[in-house]
Amino acid sequence: MKPSKIVLASSNAGKLKEFCDMLADFQIEVVPQSQFNVIDAEETGLSFVENAIIKARHACQQTGLPALADDSGLEVDALNGAPGIYSARYSGPNSSDLSNVDKLLMDLQAIPEPLRTGRYQCVLVFMRHALDPTPLICQGSWEGKLLFEPKGQGGFGYDPIFYCPKLGLTAAEMSAETKHSVSHRGLAMNVLVSQLNRWLGAPA
Ligand code: IMP
Repeated sequence: MKPSKIVLASSNAGKLKEFCDMLADFQIEVVPQSQFNVIDAEETGLSFVENAIIKARHACQQTGLPALADDSGLEVDALNGAPGIYSARYSGPNSSDLSNVDKLLMDLQAIPEPLRTGRYQCVLVFMRHALDPTPLICQGSWEGKLLFEPKGQGGFGYDPIFYCPKLGLTAAEMSAETKHSVSHRGLAMNVLVSQLNRWLGAPA
């Protein structure tokens, strides 16, 4: 049966808006887990998909509602995929976007331009209930290069040093619409919408 409400396993206001927009046509209300006093689950997985499932299952368990969760980060080839699932906390327990970017630039100091390849990854998980044996799992990735210094004022996280060769801009130099049209999160969301079409029936 089509749910009227889905809980979002995140308290991030930016993500909430993106997911509300995405599901508006399905006439499904997306409610952040903070509205149910759900505390963030501990991300104990070793991959994006494990962490997204942990977060979605936790939100289902705590609210009794279907849940949507995402997990994302940056994979750098020269660092064997780091910062990966640790992207948000790369520079330690009190990480900020600035300290994470500084640490990554330091770690890549000796890596020449041709080898500074990487990608953003995003995994979205939708679970109908806490024991759902077949969660819907959608993934999007965005290839790029890591610059030697930050460029651009927009975005967040590693965007000022993430250069998209196709568009000739860093993610921090793009409008939100442009970023969404090519980003890992935008791509994963498109996949999720097409999957939900099959599960819930086409939007009204
Ligand atoms: P989470 O999905 O909110 O756990 O985000 C993980 C971390 O990955 C963020 O804190 C950022 O450091 C990084 N990240 C994920 N997506 C993006 C993006 O679109 N731009 C910049 N950084 C990102």
